[in-house]
Amino acid sequence: LPIHARMDPGGNVRVVVRVRAFLPREIERDAECLIRMDPLSQVTTLLVPNDVDPANARTKSRKVIEEKNFTFDNSFWSHDVEDPHYATQEDVYNSLGEEFLDHNFEGYHTCIFAYGQTGSGKSYTMMGTPDQPGLIPRTCEDLFERIAQAQSETPNISYNVRVSYFEVYNEHVRDLLVPVVPNQPPYYLKIRESPTEGPYVKDLTEVPVRNINEILRYMRVGDASRTVASTKMNDTSSRSHAVFTIMLKQIHHDMETDETTERSSRIRLVDLAGSERAKSTEATGARLREGSNINKSLTTLGRVIAALADQKQVTPRKRGQRGGEAIVPYRDSILTWLLKDSLGGNSKTAMIACIAPSDYDETLSTLRYADQAK
Ligand code: ADP
Repeated sequence: LPIHARMDPGGNVRVVVRVRAFLPREIERDAECLIRMDPLSQVTTLLVPNDVDPANARTKSRKVIEEKNFTFDNSFWSHDVEDPHYATQEDVYNSLGEEFLDHNFEGYHTCIFAYGQTGSGKSYTMMGTPDQPGLIPRTCEDLFERIAQAQSETPNISYNVRVSYFEVYNEHVRDLLVPVVPNQPPYYLKIRESPTEGPYVKDLTEVPVRNINEILRYMRVGDASRTVASTKMNDTSSRSHAVFTIMLKQIHHDMETDETTERSSRIRLVDLAGSERAKSTEATGARLREGSNINKSLTTLGRVIAALADQKQVTPRKRGQRGGEAIVPYRDSILTWLLKDSLGGNSKTAMIACIAPSDYDETLSTLRYADQAK
């Protein structure tokens, strides 16, 4: 069995962890890798940094430092390319993205989040680089390959694919497919609630796409818009949540009865704001508000996912009761409210906790966050 074999343990929530390689600056300062991953048990261990005496070492937050173990659904060792257990971009896609796309074709909504401090590998995991494409481009490529294949095998099913790309910044929504107007303040969209469809972003651009190149072009447009705005507004990209959505519609035409039936599913791929911002203690005024808004989205998301993960232990009869849903606090942040359709019910959710190899405090906080989301 390959180490990064596809996992389908059932349940609707999946939590995985990925550790990145050293960056040049970390190699320069001779950083120590504080992470161990056991490929068999999937246990991730966070070690005490070498330069502290474990007996009385305390972190900045005054807690005693000790070695910590965590178990997740999968652990991706992307630290050392030479290691036979090294998890490539393809491994991550094969063990998670591919299965989620299966669910989309079955008609389920899915949502994959990348969580972690700035610089921990979130955009590398979601977007990747031209040489090492991440989950988003791989999902798009696989999607159109499957459509091409299905169309040649079952010509009575047609497919319609649309995408949108927005960011949530400071509890506001900005359309990333609308060009940023120079010297204009950012334009925020309003959120509405439809009795049938639930919460949605009013006037959000949704573009039809027919092939991988079109979809990649929009992806780049959105990324560029995010970058332009972020240089104007002090690197907001690490402080905003970027939500890339693919809407897949399968239209089944019954040749005998001449009836058509539709099956729609949404694929959400989310690069979250850097988790370190959530607790900037020295911030005041606008920064403080922003910090607490990031905090609100991330803590609410953690609570929502934890509540959903708990639901799988509820008996089917109980789960069907209306009261069960009330305990999931979707409404407490814009992000969770907007993603409600992709988070509850029959949707499949995955959280990828991205960690840096040599940052004890931030890594511990990320691992704890991921642990409580299980
Ligand atoms: P974030 O989005 O969390 O701020 P990035 O994805 O930008 O972090 O990653 C920070 C740096 O680390 C980038 O230069 C990226 O290319 C590199 N990096 C991240 N993950 C990996 C990995 N698994 N293997 C190699 N390099 C990585």
